[in-house]
Amino acid sequence: MEKIQTLRGFRDILGDERKKISFIENISRRYLSLFGFSEITIPVLEKTELFIRSIGDTTDIVEKEMFTFTDRSGESVSLRPEATAGMVRAYLQEGLYTKERVSKLFTIGPMFRHERPQKGRFREFHQINVEVFGVGDPLIDAELLWMVSLILNEIEVSNYKCEINSVGCPECREGFKKELMAYFKGYTDGLCDDCVKRLQRNPLRIFDCKNTQCTSISKESPLLFDHLCMPCREHFERFLTYLKEFNLFFTINKRLVRGLDYYTKTVFEFTSDELGAQKAFVAGGRYDNLIEGMGGPATPGCGFAIGMERLALLVKKEYTETQPNFFFAYVGEEARTYLIPVLKAFSKEGLRLRYSYEDKSLKSQMRYADSLHADYVLILGDEEIGKKIFIVRDMKQKRQSEMPLDLITLPQKITEHIHR
Ligand SMILES: [Zn+2]
Ligand SMILES: [Zn+2]
Repeated sequence: MEKIQTLRGFRDILGDERKKISFIENISRRYLSLFGFSEITIPVLEKTELFIRSIGDTTDIVEKEMFTFTDRSGESVSLRPEATAGMVRAYLQEGLYTKERVSKLFTIGPMFRHERPQKGRFREFHQINVEVFGVGDPLIDAELLWMVSLILNEIEVSNYKCEINSVGCPECREGFKKELMAYFKGYTDGLCDDCVKRLQRNPLRIFDCKNTQCTSISKESPLLFDHLCMPCREHFERFLTYLKEFNLFFTINKRLVRGLDYYTKTVFEFTSDELGAQKAFVAGGRYDNLIEGMGGPATPGCGFAIGMERLALLVKKEYTETQPNFFFAYVGEEARTYLIPVLKAFSKEGLRLRYSYEDKSLKSQMRYADSLHADYVLILGDEEIGKKIFIVRDMKQKRQSEMPLDLITLPQKITEHIHR
């Protein structure tokens, strides 16, 4: 019978890659907790309207990349393409703004985008999403970047760049849009069909276009950065001051934009040349009008997402278990009666002990222990029982020694014996 495969762009994550992702999650959870963040789990499926209203209906994500379908009750639903929209919905729906002055939240889980699958890009991918609701001061923008740098330092990823920019606010953008339209109107013949449409609806979106001709035209365009209003300029200047106080290295990239409408003021990306064309593995920024735009009170917000699959590609650290791996090799019916008591004793001490489920020859059990990378094997057979002993074999040193049989259920004694 033909075997069923995953959907295109979907895949299983296992082995070394899964271990690296868990490693990133564990370190991140530790720092997030240190910085006062609480974990929250939100649905992966939401009303389509949530994403249209937050991300923007002229964005590529909403126009082309969402997994949108009509459910059995006739409602249009979408798999989340990003987490901020759902986080804001939860913040409002759960009334967190009435309970706490500042909400620091994070969530870990899958996102879905119907893109053309290519190297390092999948239709289901995983993120850690971090959001701060209720702080307008750029101190938090800088603090978030600092926290990311601490996480990266801990997982020993150092080959990266931190790029920052300001995308201003609706006020600075209005005047800029006119100037941008005037600029692009001079190049309409060179723009792709999508960008010609974008020119009318939202010329800022032209910066997201991956078409090479469009990118070379936008490379020379006027910059929003040069049109920031006073409050936006001040916010950026203070952000820079804080970054310097945190001793963070960064590059100002005046052409850095994000493919979502809700960003205001600060935007940032952590990039690595090791990742090829899609080099960002952390991205985020400020969204001071989003919460109000979603029907909530005027509340500033700031956050970022870590792309787990991409960051895992940068993790070089080898995982060496600090805890030893024990294996219990038993031969014969009587030896087998020791199995469960030994297993109970080891698990009670929090020590790992594995064994063969089938009564096989000692040779076969030793081969199995080797394949499991056991550090120590406890060997018990009729001969040992007769002598009231068991054998402890050090698999790395290829040495073995005897211990009194009544110590076999005392892992502490075994560990002491090993370390003598
Ligand atoms: Zn502004
Ligand atoms: Zn284009």
